Amino acid sequence: MRVLKFGGTSVGKPERMKHIAKLINDGVEKIVVLSAVSGTTNSLVEIHTAYKKEGKKAAHKLIEKLEASYYPFIEQLYAKNSSIKKAKKLIGEVFDLLRSFKSKNFSEADAKIILAQGELISTHLFLYYTQEIGLNATLIPALDFMKTTDGEPDLKYIAKKLRKTLVKSGKHQLYITQGYICMNDKEEIDNLRRGGSDYTATLIGGALPATEIQIWTDIDGMHNTDPRVVKDTFPIHELSFEEAAELAYFGAKILHPSCVLPAQKSGVPVKLLNTMEPKAKGTVISEVVTRTPQRVKAIAAKDDITAIKIRSSRMLNAYGFLKKIFEVFEEFQTSIDMVVTSEVAVSLTIDDNTKLKAIVKALKKFAEVEVDKGQTIICVAGEFKHTEAGIAAKVINTLTKIPIRMISSGGSRSNISILVDSKYKVKAMNALNEGLFGDILKKKRAKA
Ligand code: ADP
Ligand code: ASP
Ligand code: MG
Repeated sequence: MRVLKFGGTSVGKPERMKHIAKLINDGVEKIVVLSAVSGTTNSLVEIHTAYKKEGKKAAHKLIEKLEASYYPFIEQLYAKNSSIKKAKKLIGEVFDLLRSFKSKNFSEADAKIILAQGELISTHLFLYYTQEIGLNATLIPALDFMKTTDGEPDLKYIAKKLRKTLVKSGKHQLYITQGYICMNDKEEIDNLRRGGSDYTATLIGGALPATEIQIWTDIDGMHNTDPRVVKDTFPIHELSFEEAAELAYFGAKILHPSCVLPAQKSGVPVKLLNTMEPKAKGTVISEVVTRTPQRVKAIAAKDDITAIKIRSSRMLNAYGFLKKIFEVFEEFQTSIDMVVTSEVAVSLTIDDNTKLKAIVKALKKFAEVEVDKGQTIICVAGEFKHTEAGIAAKVINTLTKIPIRMISSGGSRSNISILVDSKYKVKAMNALNEGLFGDILKKKRAKA
């Protein structure tokens, strides 16, 4: 069994839905995971924020606008009146539900019900289309098998319930399901956080286990750096699970930060493919990567980072200092990304400021604390052996004009991380691109 995930732009227009229906119609059995139509989840975020902050009237205005965008979509998607009727009924029901919330006492659980509607709409619209054109398709509701416990996917539950759901649904060629949405251990509708459809696909692929997981998006695979920040980039055809996980975690938006792990655990290769250019090679993420002379593979960046410098008031040789620091972060359930230590001070970074005030207060009981918000971690991923000379030097040499706040190397074989003030991000990313990939870029430019 294969698992294919199509992102927001891949289902974002009626013609795109028709296109992917063609793409998957090759007679082979598969699970198809869909995101919401592009823009819908953002609108749903605006809607629940409006309910919370501005009131029912503002929320209803946004709901009306989103609803209106679906009617022409439906008219263009289907040829048969019966399909149009079915789809309109669905849209009517979903938008009536969206209108049914009250601003007073609006809860987090309400917000999550609202956020789930995007994937519920896209999968139903796509199911009706595949049925209209005669494909043997069925819907397997993600809420029947996708579950989190303590905020993390419950792998055992997912594997067991997924199998049961598949058996119950009978034999089909296409099993369509929702990305992103799940139930939590309070029996409420929840989600796997933004971009979570990738995670759904790898959780399903890992649980089966599938022969392959394909993530279809709007670009021909993982590029050597973020194409939204750097103009001249190129696709990387092979990545190890470890490299891909580092890149995803450190900001490569093409993959959800946690989605590599379930595939890696089960050893299921993940392919990143382009819906608009299905013949393009894309990227294969797997355990075995043929050695390429290119040691540095890619660069990613993660914004909204806070750096915390903690200086011991007792200074040199104070053992137990690191333990005390980490205990504070454990107490406030805040994970640390980068850590750099010197004899008298520790600098570290976090990406979640929710508990920052309390953390600083607790640290100040035994240390001097400095906080810098608005930082960016730039992650250089590749295959770095501690026995090989020159890689860290090359990275630093390309950044001679950028003030580096922190640098961390040697923590893993696949990552060198640099922390800079976010105002230097674009300059630093471009400098690293030219400095680390200059030869490839030269060849690419000569060809063009
Ligand atoms: P989808 O809706 O299909 O999940 P996303 O927008 O989440 O698509 O992810 C694809 C986008 O990720 C690309 O259009 C690109 O702008 C962005 N991106 C960021 N970093 C990279 C990278 N290193 N390689 C490829 N795409 C990247
Ligand atoms: N629709 C969700 C989002 O926009 C999940 C996804 O697209 O992966 O974040
Ligand atoms: Mg995505």
